Amino acid sequence: MNAKEPAAIAAIIPTTTPSTWLGVMGGGQLGRMFAQAAQAMGYKIAVLEPAQDCPAAQVADRHFLADYDDEVALAELATLCAAVTTEFENVSSHSLAFLAERTFVAPKAACVSIAQDRIAEKNFFTDCSPKSKVLPAPHQVINSAADIDSVPENLLPGILKTVRLGYDGKGQARVTTLDELRSAYADMQGVACVLEKMLPLAYEVSVLVARGVDGEAVVYPIAENVHRDGILFTTTVPGPNVSDDCAKRAQDAALSIVGQLGYVGVLCIEFFVLQDGSLVVNEMAPRPHNSGHYTMDACVTGQFAQQARAMARLPLGDVRQHSPAVMLNILGDVWFDGETDQGSDQMREPAWEKIMGLPGAYLHLYGKAEARRGRKMGHITFIAPSLAQAQAQMAKACLLLGIATP
Ligand code: ATP
Ligand code: MG
Repeated sequence: MNAKEPAAIAAIIPTTTPSTWLGVMGGGQLGRMFAQAAQAMGYKIAVLEPAQDCPAAQVADRHFLADYDDEVALAELATLCAAVTTEFENVSSHSLAFLAERTFVAPKAACVSIAQDRIAEKNFFTDCSPKSKVLPAPHQVINSAADIDSVPENLLPGILKTVRLGYDGKGQARVTTLDELRSAYADMQGVACVLEKMLPLAYEVSVLVARGVDGEAVVYPIAENVHRDGILFTTTVPGPNVSDDCAKRAQDAALSIVGQLGYVGVLCIEFFVLQDGSLVVNEMAPRPHNSGHYTMDACVTGQFAQQARAMARLPLGDVRQHSPAVMLNILGDVWFDGETDQGSDQMREPAWEKIMGLPGAYLHLYGKAEARRGRKMGHITFIAPSLAQAQAQMAKACLLLGIATP
């Protein structure tokens, strides 16, 4: 892939008469926050999403209510918009390529395709490794039950993951023996899988980078992530466990990977830090990321404003973090006031006014009408002069919301 694009392409400057439009594929919370950030810069936003009252369509200036591969709607979106991006990584690369024949698209279909396929992604990371200095976890592709016979013992215990469409820990099974692997693979109903060696993690980090068409790239401070039940629970920046040396290695690796990918836009790369301090690259998301939400309140340029700048070919914004931050995801669970075996627990709106009474707490709700357990409904970022103060406010919020404190 080309590392550079022609630098002569003009910036897409926001104008009001006529309006300058940016488009986004997908109507979830990432699309909503992208729309809000781009609107603040003066752009009009069009969203293409088949669901009616979705988080992004609630704030968009125009909603194309259509399937992601509806070519009539895609053509209209491309005609209206000076550039189009995506807010979810499983957008069909055919749709992105179709749009790219008609308007500027960032990130490109080829980059998104790699991130959609764990095998392509791991092969790409391996190809990058002479320069990035990081490798993916030891793994083996499992395309058939027969492939299990050749699995080396040193890949067990391991995690079987579907090659496509996994998220929030879905499409994964932990296995310790070949028999467990056989039964887990049978449960995956014949889809392509990859078995990854279970690594001794010390902690997990992610690095958000943004790259413009001219090849200039910026890297945000490294974020330390804690998951609960497979879903991101908190992101803390600076990470309490992260050494300067680890931060530099991860940031250098992320910059190297985004450059080798020839990527344009915001990209997030997840890494594992092992107990011996070594770094392993896990996966990348070709879009702003949940672990980058803290940038909206704690950095000069938030990740969604950065995405708008990159796709509009404007100078990238300052990534400097001005305050230590902790981001807490708000799942639908906090709307339920207790766990019952019958599942008939009462629903109530959480006491947001109390959250807003906490100094340095920024509440973000995504406009989802129905709270469900495990569903991402919003997040709160706590910023403070010191990380300890931000963590103390987060602990208070957990108590107020009935979330078990870390
Ligand atoms: P998401 O898209 O929500 O980030 P995902 O479903 O794509 O998640 P992964 O990030 O690959 O899946 O894995 C989910 C979690 O499982 C990781 O954050 C990590 O805690 C754990 N995990 C995954 N792979 C390994 C591994 N090889 N060794 C140890 N732990 C692992
Ligand atoms: Mg992950």
